Amino acid sequence: MNEILKGIAASSGIAIGQVYIIGRDDFEVSKRLIVESEVAGEIVRFEESLIQTRQELIVLQRKIAHEFNQEQAQIFDAHLLVLEDRMLIEEVISRVKKEKCSVDYVFQEVLKKYVSVFSRMEDEYLRERIADINDVGKRVLRALCGRKKKSLADFEQKVIVVAHDLSPSDTAAMHRKNVLGFITDIGGKTSHTAIMAKSFEIPAVVGVEVATSKISQGDTIIIDGTAGIIVINPDERTIAKYKEAEEKILAKDKTFISLKELPAETRDGRRVELVANIELPEEIPFLLEHGAEGIGLYRTEYFYMNRKDLPTEEEQFEAYKLVAEKMAPYPVVIRTLDLGGDKFISQLQVPKDMLPFLGWRAIRFCLARPDIFKVQLRAILRASVHGKLKLMYPMISGVEEMRQANRVLEDVKEELRVEGLPFEKNMEIGAMIEVPSAAITADLIAKEADFFSIGTNDLIQYALAVDRTNEKVAYLYEPAHPAVLRLIKKIIDDAHKNKIRVGMCGEMSGDPMFAIILLGMGLDEFSMPSRMVLQIKQLVRSVTIKQAQEIAAEALSFATAREVEKFSKRKLKELFPQVYDSF
Ligand code: PEP
Ligand code: MG
Repeated sequence: MNEILKGIAASSGIAIGQVYIIGRDDFEVSKRLIVESEVAGEIVRFEESLIQTRQELIVLQRKIAHEFNQEQAQIFDAHLLVLEDRMLIEEVISRVKKEKCSVDYVFQEVLKKYVSVFSRMEDEYLRERIADINDVGKRVLRALCGRKKKSLADFEQKVIVVAHDLSPSDTAAMHRKNVLGFITDIGGKTSHTAIMAKSFEIPAVVGVEVATSKISQGDTIIIDGTAGIIVINPDERTIAKYKEAEEKILAKDKTFISLKELPAETRDGRRVELVANIELPEEIPFLLEHGAEGIGLYRTEYFYMNRKDLPTEEEQFEAYKLVAEKMAPYPVVIRTLDLGGDKFISQLQVPKDMLPFLGWRAIRFCLARPDIFKVQLRAILRASVHGKLKLMYPMISGVEEMRQANRVLEDVKEELRVEGLPFEKNMEIGAMIEVPSAAITADLIAKEADFFSIGTNDLIQYALAVDRTNEKVAYLYEPAHPAVLRLIKKIIDDAHKNKIRVGMCGEMSGDPMFAIILLGMGLDEFSMPSRMVLQIKQLVRSVTIKQAQEIAAEALSFATAREVEKFSKRKLKELFPQVYDSF
C-alpha cells in the first residue's frame, strides 16, 4: 500500500485512476512475492495466458497460410509445440508453489533457463529452436502482463498510461478524454512527449526509470504531475488527500480567469505579448479560453506524424489558412518543419540515427530536401493572406543558413508570382535562436531577420551539453544557469540594438520562476503552453518595468543556478504568497 515513486514533473495536475501498461517487446518483469492464498489464482492466470496465446497463434497461422503459403504457416507449429511442452508448464507451476513468486516472473526465469540450455546444444536444429522459445515466451508474457500493442487513441475507459517510453507521435495520438495521465521510465522535462502532455493538459511524470517494473496492470495509481510523484495502490486517506489537493489546484486556476480580459502590461504600462505554443490546430479553443493573444510557435512537424504519407501543399494550405483565420487578428508564428531529435517521421525513410539532436535535423534537413521544404513554404505563403502569419526557421546556426533559407523562400515567392497566386509580401521572417553559435552571433543574424524567438529547450541542452530527453542528466538541465541567463540577455540586447522584436517559445517563458527576470531583460513576447498564460500575466501586472529590471540585474549577478532559483522563489513569495506558498 502507498508505494511511492519519484520522477520528473512533466505536466502539472493530479490524476487518479487505473493503470494501463503499454508494453515494449524486450520488457523485464521484476520479482514480486505472493502469499499462499494467491498461488491458485496465479496458476489460473498462467493457464489462461497459454490458452490466449494459443488462440492468437492459430489466428496468425491461418492468416499467414491464406496470405502466403502453407509452408510458412508451419513455422507456427513449432511455436504451438512450445506452448504444449509439459516439462516447461510443470516447472513453472511447481516453482510458483515453492518459491511464492508471481507467475510472470517465474515464467520469465524458466524461459531464460531454457534459452541458455538450448544455446549450449550441439545440434543445430535444436539451437535454432531458441528463436521459437523466445517468440512464444514474449507472447505469453505479454498475455500475462496484459501488455498489448494498442493504439493510444483506442482506450474505451479512462486510464493512466504507463510506458517505458512514449514518442511525441504516440502522445499526439492519445485520446484526451480517456487518458487521465501518463508515466514513462525515460524522458526529461522538455522532451516533446512532456511538451505534448502540457498542451493537452494531461498530468504526466517522466523519467521514473522503474515505472514499468514496479507498476502492474490494473493497479490504482495517483500521479502528481506538479511534484513528480506517483503513489501506487494508495489507501483511502491518501486518495482523499490528493482529491483535496486537486480541488485546490482547480480553484487556484479559476482565480486567474479574472485576469483574462486585462492587458498584459506592467504597473507602469509596459505591454508585452503573451501567446501560446501549439502542436495541433485542435488546441486553438483551449488557448483562446486561456487568454492567449496569438500563437508564438506552431510546431508544424506534428502535421507530418501519425500518417502514412507526407502532407500535400493543398492540405497544408487549408490547415494554415484555418489557423490564420481562427486566430485573426492575432498573430500566428508558423515554424517550418523541425524534424529530428526525439521527433521522427517514419514515412520519410530517414534513419532515426541520422536525425539526432546534433545531426541532420530541422533547417539542415529542410535545406537538403528542398522538395519537402518548398511544399511547406508555398503552403504558408499562400495562407498568409488569410490572417496575420509570420514564419520562422528552427535551428539556425549562423548567418549563412539564414540566408540560404531565405533564398529558397525567395524562389518560392517567385514561383507563386509567376503562377499568379497571392501571398503577403511583407510577411515577417524570423529566426529561432536555440543554438549557441546563433546566440553568440545574434547581432549578425538580427540583420537578416525580422524577429527572433529564443528556443530555450534546445539552447539549454546545447549550451550546457545536457540531452533534454535523458532523465539521467536531468539534474544538470538548468534554465537558471548563469550561462543560459547571460546568453538570453545577449540575444535580447542584440535584437533590440538592431531594432527587431524578440520572443521566447521555449518552456522557460511559461515558468513563473523566470517571468519577471525575462520581463526585466526586455523580452517582448512570451510564448508558452496555454494553461500558463494567465499565471504569467498576473506576474507581469504585478511589477513596474524598473522593478523587473532590478530583479533581472540581481538574477544575472549570481554564480549558480541554485542561487538564482532561491532568489526568484523569494521574490515570488513576497509578491503572491497565496499562489507560491509551496515553492
Ligand atoms: C525550443 O527548442 O525551445 C523550442 C521551442 O523548440 P522545440 O521544443 O520544438 O525544439
Ligand atoms: Mg527547438
